[in-house]
Amino acid sequence: MTKQLYIGGEWVGSTSSERIPVINPSTEEVFDYIVAANADDIDTAVKAAREAFDSGPWPNMKGAERAVLLRQIAAKITERKAELARLEVMDNGKPYPEAEWDIEDAAGTFSFYADLAESLDDSDEVIPLADERFSCKAVKEPLGVAGAIIPWNFPLLMAAWKVAPALAAGCTMVLKPSEVTSLTALVLAEIVDEVKLPPGVLNIVTGSGADAGRALSEHPGVDKLAFTGSVPTGATIMRAAATEIKNISLELGGKSPFIVFADSDIEAAVEWIMFGIFWNQGQVCSATSRVLVEASIYPQLLERLVEEAAKITIGAGHEAGTLLGPLVNESQYQKVLTAIETGVAKGAVIACGGQRPAELKTGYYLQPTVLVDMQENNPVWQEEIFGPVVCVKPFTAESDAVRMANNSRFGLAAAVMSRDDERCDRVARQLRAGIVWINCSQPTFTEAPWGGYKQSGIGRELGHWGLNNYLETKQITKYDSDAPWGWYIRS
Ligand code: NAD
Repeated sequence: MTKQLYIGGEWVGSTSSERIPVINPSTEEVFDYIVAANADDIDTAVKAAREAFDSGPWPNMKGAERAVLLRQIAAKITERKAELARLEVMDNGKPYPEAEWDIEDAAGTFSFYADLAESLDDSDEVIPLADERFSCKAVKEPLGVAGAIIPWNFPLLMAAWKVAPALAAGCTMVLKPSEVTSLTALVLAEIVDEVKLPPGVLNIVTGSGADAGRALSEHPGVDKLAFTGSVPTGATIMRAAATEIKNISLELGGKSPFIVFADSDIEAAVEWIMFGIFWNQGQVCSATSRVLVEASIYPQLLERLVEEAAKITIGAGHEAGTLLGPLVNESQYQKVLTAIETGVAKGAVIACGGQRPAELKTGYYLQPTVLVDMQENNPVWQEEIFGPVVCVKPFTAESDAVRMANNSRFGLAAAVMSRDDERCDRVARQLRAGIVWINCSQPTFTEAPWGGYKQSGIGRELGHWGLNNYLETKQITKYDSDAPWGWYIRS
């Protein structure tokens, strides 16, 4: 049965009869449908969120009271972990253990922001003034109605990164999940319904980017847009936000470098590179997609990387032992194949992979792929591929590695590996990226800031930075005297 929309605390139909098929990427079969919401549905959802913000209890509740509900949401996500993980596997294709990890992390995100919601009750900041006739404080208040638009690579987790801090702050929200993977967001709607979140505080509306996403980003009732997705869509959202000066945060794409110096342990480097690019089929914004290896160990490292990549078990996400599932859908699959083809036509050489595994006739499967010998201006080296494709290049001097790493329009993440701590710290500070890993790649912590430099985005999610995305800061200044101020009337 087609799922409905969750608006104003109720399950409602759309004014349109359009449906979007949900396809299992490992079988290419349609197994469900979601509603393709239109601009009227978005309008209803934004009005519900507006009403809940302007007249409902949510923004005025104590942070500690909101925290109780956030913890209940976390507990229900944990209770339904297996069901949510199975849905994520069917919808997105990722291996089951990775899906389980996502769900645990989503629950953890709600618990983390429950703690931060409590901390808001004690967050007024006294501002000492030189003029002692006045007392002044800065207070934090919820920003208003937020519109959240998210991608398909970590469906429930990306929802949690936006919903949890927004609710903790006291905002209300309309969430539009990706049309490619909406099922776990709809379970989240069931969960918030069960815990009796006040009606309209969280509205979940499925639909395409062109219709529902556009209507949400252009709606005058939305105060803040929180977007995660590609750079071109981010630019569209930014233009839509400009019309009414909406507050905006953007988490966009990446082409993240990993610099490996010759004193590194080669096995450890190969393992982190593989985790960085093959985890989630390489459909990770911070994926380790450009590897720079000091020339003296380049042949040895490449040989080990190719050997290990060829051993990865490819299969459906629900099959035990699968380490690489299918790409999310036909269009992403074709996009990745075309990127490889274009790169090769411009001089890149396939060291391994690049093709559908012979034994898997159905499903959007691609072998783990290692590309070498490309020039720096080759699109495979410069553009985000968002698939299990890593480009590897040698370097000779540290300064050259840093220059090559920074030669990108993206700046989401980067990594450096060496046994020389001073060098790691020096290089980490020179890398133009919002996240830099030393001697590892990808571990992500809810407590720490996440976001990009350059075209990888604006603002930071996670940690207290994530909460701040949904807060306004108000100055309250009091004149502590009964006497006239003395500009016009002198006593
Ligand atoms: P996408 O930009 O195609 O879509 C993202 C969302 O935007 C979807 O919900 C889509 O429906 C919506 N959308 C599309 N067109 C729209 C429009 N005109 N107006 C409003 N909404 C619109 O991205 P995707 O393919 O779903 O996700 C992959 C991208 O996301 C990659 O570039 C990846 O790097 C990025 N990403 C970034 C982060 C991060 O934290 N920086 C995390 C995950 C993914």
